[in-house]
Amino acid sequence: MINEQMYAFGAESSKIREIFSYACARKEEIGAENVFDFSLGNPSIPAPAAVQESIARSLAEVPAAELHGYTPAPGLPAARAAVASSLNRRFGTTYTASDVFMTVGAAASVSIALHAAVCPGEEVIVIAPYFPEYRVWIETAGAVCVEVPADPETFQVVPGAVAAAITPRTAAVIINAPNNPTGAIYPRETLSELAEVLEEVNAAREQELGHPQPVVLISDEPYREITYGAEVPWVPALYEHTVVCYSYSKSLSLPGERVGWVLVPQVSEGARRMMAAVAGAARALGFVCAPALFQRVVIDCVDTPTDVAAYARNRELLTDALRAYGYTFVEPDGAFYLWVRALEPDAEAFCERARGFELLPVPSDSFGVPGWVRVGYCVAPETIERSLPAWQALAESYR
Ligand code: PLP
Repeated sequence: MINEQMYAFGAESSKIREIFSYACARKEEIGAENVFDFSLGNPSIPAPAAVQESIARSLAEVPAAELHGYTPAPGLPAARAAVASSLNRRFGTTYTASDVFMTVGAAASVSIALHAAVCPGEEVIVIAPYFPEYRVWIETAGAVCVEVPADPETFQVVPGAVAAAITPRTAAVIINAPNNPTGAIYPRETLSELAEVLEEVNAAREQELGHPQPVVLISDEPYREITYGAEVPWVPALYEHTVVCYSYSKSLSLPGERVGWVLVPQVSEGARRMMAAVAGAARALGFVCAPALFQRVVIDCVDTPTDVAAYARNRELLTDALRAYGYTFVEPDGAFYLWVRALEPDAEAFCERARGFELLPVPSDSFGVPGWVRVGYCVAPETIERSLPAWQALAESYR
């Protein structure tokens, strides 16, 4: 017997991966320098030197059996404490190690948070466009993915639209800022409005049920450090029932090493039960014990800055050129994606035509909205430079 739901997830695979595979094959055919692959969110800058230094130090100083051994399921106490202290320094909080659960990257963080916060049959709201894996993780938890459109011009979350989508079965809302795929960052006022909406729902529910049953806000933040000046507000300061999901995949350029965390501020009995459910979900999903060597890297590098300058230069190069060629797009405040309006209503057809110019963006349909494409500019600047005549020719082909 095969699990048909899992078969479908595997057989469909991800559009992003499909384009990436095409790019690899095409590079073999016509040379890597002639293919402009903007599909993946793989950081183009190397991990900072502090990461290599940390690994070397661990190899030299930590006995091998300990270095490569199991850590406690929620992570090394020193790694959890290092994360808590770093957050305290940055956001004026008073977290401790027991608020932090180390994970195998943000994919695990969000999956775990969903399994901890949501029961089969309940609903989880996502803001469209959204990272396509959310639907897979939500449905794997037996829940229903409810799409709420972002503002169609700014791609900001619209608290009123979230309010309208909430039902008695709504268990959680996922937000992601800086956003993949639009680069949007939600300002403090918008997040406060969203918090107010959720507080109102919680109050009404408590009155009706006779016990609290708050909507959980899952804040997926792997791009927190990649911003071009805008503030990324600390969500738990605005809404108590927030679970923060993080990874070092983007900030330290370590996507292949699989390390991150879930934060559940232990402010109430409900939050303590939620953290126990996080531990239970990690156990149930087989995600216990994040990579031991990289938990040690987290201890050493928790405050190592991200080299945002390289992405900022790519962003400027790409946006200046695309603007000049007549494209419209959302000015990204963070992350390393440009959300560009397709030059025809069907984004898939636009991407097909772009392929003829060896340009490989990702059509927006896989992110839950029609008519746009995502251009990942976490690539070598030369790739962007070489791609510019192709972008121009693509635009001219529509005139
Ligand atoms: N969430 C978002 C919004 C992402 O863009 C990604 C990866 O691209 C993830 C989660 C998964 O991150 P990780 O590679 O750390 O599992």
